[in-house]
Amino acid sequence: IRALKGGVVMAEAMGVDTSRARMVIFLIAALHACASGWLYAHMQRFVNPTPFGLHIGIEYLFMAVVGGAGHVWGALVGAGVITLLKQWLQDVLPKLFGSAGHYEVIVFGLMMIIVLHRARDGLWPLLARLVPVRAEPKQIDPKAEPLPRKAQPPHGETILEAREVTRKFGGLVANNAMSLSVKAGEILALIGPNGAGKSTMFNQLSGVDTPTSGEVLFRGKSVAGHSSREIAALGMSRTFQHVRLLPKMSVLENVAIGAHMRGSRGVLPAAWRLDRADEARLLREAAIQVERVGLGEFMHTEAGSLALGQQRILEIARALCSDPCLLLLDEPAAGLRLKEKQALSELLRRLKSEGMAVLIVEHDMDFVMSLVDRVVVMEFGEKIAEGLPEEVQQDPAVLEAYLGGV
Ligand code: ADP
Ligand code: MG
Repeated sequence: IRALKGGVVMAEAMGVDTSRARMVIFLIAALHACASGWLYAHMQRFVNPTPFGLHIGIEYLFMAVVGGAGHVWGALVGAGVITLLKQWLQDVLPKLFGSAGHYEVIVFGLMMIIVLHRARDGLWPLLARLVPVRAEPKQIDPKAEPLPRKAQPPHGETILEAREVTRKFGGLVANNAMSLSVKAGEILALIGPNGAGKSTMFNQLSGVDTPTSGEVLFRGKSVAGHSSREIAALGMSRTFQHVRLLPKMSVLENVAIGAHMRGSRGVLPAAWRLDRADEARLLREAAIQVERVGLGEFMHTEAGSLALGQQRILEIARALCSDPCLLLLDEPAAGLRLKEKQALSELLRRLKSEGMAVLIVEHDMDFVMSLVDRVVVMEFGEKIAEGLPEEVQQDPAVLEAYLGGV
């Protein structure tokens, strides 16, 4: 549920069924509303529609916003503050203005504006900062049973194949008859100038978008038009050009979202906290991936406080957490310093030697050319060259595209 805050595209790419999750949230809320309605009727012995009108609905929403939506204590703080304040204002304001009326609405309106400007997350996070005892970070149990891993496909097997993929946006042909293939244990780079259609191609491959025509085969199955969730379940995992993480959650928790599909307990056991053993296994796996990419010292740091380069690395760890056989990386080196780029190259080489297939979209030619096995070059939505890095660098069409002719 918390992953939904990172956006539907990210959550779906990590295998979260977002429409189902929303339905679950609605059901949980409805259940609580039912229980309280029943208690209310039981106590009052009389029910009329007024206490359930729009006005009171807005007030409940206001309580959640003021207290801090998403925090249990926030709900209590919000309900307490609004209820007491309302009582007090109803006593004081009419005397002040000299006539009866719902003047508290004015004060609440002003409060809403201030809260939304100054304390987006409500009062509770502010109060929690004043309390000296901090929440304990999630414990990692080193004895938790490791999660099972899928067998990696044999080295050299073609994992991903795009055939004549075309994507039109109205009159604009963002991808025109693009074909490419990626093998296990290979790093393929997709390069090209800005606006060449690389990210669009990425979206066709990963199920975020559907090609106008053409076919995408992943591990022999046709996946064009399938949802990114289904494709993720088959073993494709990705990062985003514009990082999509939950800034308020720790590095460990963010990475654990990637393991979502590897958990075995559903909503009901989770609601009753019967999923502790399962959670321990997922967190251990997440911790392993955080260490693997070299972010171990930031395990319990808020993800939002990391440098951009580290956030990109975090996304790779999250992608790895789903135990993929193909990694899609959209501009992973953008915004990285030289040292970080070297560390990233190192990491990708290591993954490759373990048999992982990597498709990388990149701008930085130096970074790409020393790292990858093959290169596909795009311009204006079309493939203009394909081959080994050395060959491509000599290709007149590529030089033309990058340097405007030599
Ligand atoms: P790259 O990642 O290579 O820089 P993109 O794939 O982001 O390029 O974009 C390729 C072209 O497709 C650009 O001209 C862009 O404006 C266009 N484009 C991308 N997405 C959309 C969309 N959803 N609707 C309309 N045009 C789009
Ligand atoms: Mg792009």
